[in-house]
Amino acid sequence: MRIRSEIILFFLLISVIPLSIVAYISYDNGKEAIRASVMEKLLGATENTGNAIDNWMAARKDDMRVISQSRIVVSKDKKQLHEYLDTFVRGYRGVYREFFILDLNGSIIFSTLDREGNAGNERYFTEAANGKLYVSDVSLSEIPGSSEMIIANPVKNNGTITGIMAARVSLENLYRIIENIDVGKSGEVFIVNKDGNIIFHKNRSMILLRSIDDNHAVREVRYEKNGIAEYINYKGEKVLGSYYWLPLYRWGLIVEENIDEAYTGVVTLGRLMVTVSFFAIIGVVFLAVVISRRLTEPIKSLENGAIDLVKGNFRPIPVTSSNEIGRLAEIFNQTASELLFIRKKLEDRIQLANHDLEKKNRELIDANEGLKKLDVMKSEFISLISHELKTPLSTIKVSAEYLETDDNADPVERKEMLRVIIKNIDRQTRMINDILDLSKMEAGKMEFQFENVDMREIVNAVIENIGQLALKKKITISLDIPDSLPQIIADKEKLIIVLNNLAGNAFKFTPEGGSILISVKDLGDSIEVSMKDTGIGIDKEKLEKIFDKFYQVDSTSRRKIGGCGLGLSIASGIIRTHGSQIHVESKPGGGSTFSFRLKKAEP
Ligand code: ADP
Repeated sequence: MRIRSEIILFFLLISVIPLSIVAYISYDNGKEAIRASVMEKLLGATENTGNAIDNWMAARKDDMRVISQSRIVVSKDKKQLHEYLDTFVRGYRGVYREFFILDLNGSIIFSTLDREGNAGNERYFTEAANGKLYVSDVSLSEIPGSSEMIIANPVKNNGTITGIMAARVSLENLYRIIENIDVGKSGEVFIVNKDGNIIFHKNRSMILLRSIDDNHAVREVRYEKNGIAEYINYKGEKVLGSYYWLPLYRWGLIVEENIDEAYTGVVTLGRLMVTVSFFAIIGVVFLAVVISRRLTEPIKSLENGAIDLVKGNFRPIPVTSSNEIGRLAEIFNQTASELLFIRKKLEDRIQLANHDLEKKNRELIDANEGLKKLDVMKSEFISLISHELKTPLSTIKVSAEYLETDDNADPVERKEMLRVIIKNIDRQTRMINDILDLSKMEAGKMEFQFENVDMREIVNAVIENIGQLALKKKITISLDIPDSLPQIIADKEKLIIVLNNLAGNAFKFTPEGGSILISVKDLGDSIEVSMKDTGIGIDKEKLEKIFDKFYQVDSTSRRKIGGCGLGLSIASGIIRTHGSQIHVESKPGGGSTFSFRLKKAEP
């Protein structure tokens, strides 16, 4: 799971669970408080209504006490009685339907409705006759849907009961008071008498025609109890019912309110709690998202930075805070740049090492190529040397055989044969000496004896060597040497070898009729010796190679001309030992000039 999800989950857990508990406890407490308040209100309303009934009834009883003791009633003057009592009937607007007076036998002696009759058996009469104010049970009046009761009080004259004053009291006014109780849309108020018969109901048709037994409140109130309870009412609805026993009239006042309606506050509270909890959770989630983003964003950028670092394209990550994560980001940036620096250094070193390796590899390849070439050259050399060594041997053999077979040969011819034999032996000796010189030089075993040398002597020795041959080949040899030539420091014998080789080549590669110029120039602290011919010349790209061992430019001309490609190697080795080098200028068909410089001897 990602850190961010974990943080959000953590916030939800530590907030939603306590929040739910608090919300539930608040709801439960609130619910109880609302229930208590609803019940208190209902009980209060019931009690107030009971008091209102009591007051109303007390007022009626007071009326009767006052009326029955009035002088007019005691005198029983019918005209005055009419005037007096009619004012009550009118004044109380329908409360009193009839006032009537009974004698002690129960006969009606006066009625505001002029009614006649005897009520001697009626309870109100007997009770009042016994000197008590009596209130009868509620009964239906002759007006449909209207109920009434009779209040009777003895009429006393000087303390003696002289008659009974009675009034038929309509309960409509009382009912209106009761109907003022706020019991909501579905609530009901009704009054039952001690037998459980309804004596007040909004639905007047139920009055005295319906008795309710299967109702908790009715049962309780008939046990003369007051209280409040939740129960299923006679209509099968769940209600909150308050019941109040009115002992004076043995009535039970019952106020019922539909339980849902009564407790709408609880439902509202529940909804409020759910709404508040919902918004609180939304708030917590929002906070969790914001906080988790603040926390995880730097971690995420650290992660991205680390990934970039691994890929090698790291850019410093932004440091957005000065807390631990911010410091971690700083340390990360620092470490990353150090790592990159080290990496760069390592890469540079590896690159250098690679270059070095590549160079060495190329050198190895070149060396290998060189070895291969050397190998080829050696093979060529072996075949060449065999050929070169074999050629004089064949000549020597032919001449020797001739001398052996022909005892009578002409002495001139014999001499010529012997000369040929000696010449070829010399040639072979030279060749073998060349090979020996080169191998000695390469092994560093050639001995040099430096001394003051006169260059002219060396040039003369060389001309002596090739003079005759040049004459035969009609090649002109000319010299360009200053009269006063300073001495140089050199190994005389070795310098003769050098000049012999250069002159030998000039002679070999210059066709008949050509010329060779040997010149020596004074350059101040050194002299320059050069050998110029008008021979076949050398290709520019082959110029560097002619100093290599066994190298020969053209095999066809070589085969005609002879040699084994060692002369220039030996010459350049000797001049190198003298601290100089041989320089060549040549172009094909345009002749060649070989030159080198040598230090002058101290004067
Ligand atoms: P070689 O025994 O073949 O003469 P060198 O080492 O003396 O061997 O010379 C190498 C090659 O250089 C010769 O074979 C020839 O091809 C070329 N060379 C040397 N000197 C001359 C020259 N004066 N003119 C033309 N080519 C020359």
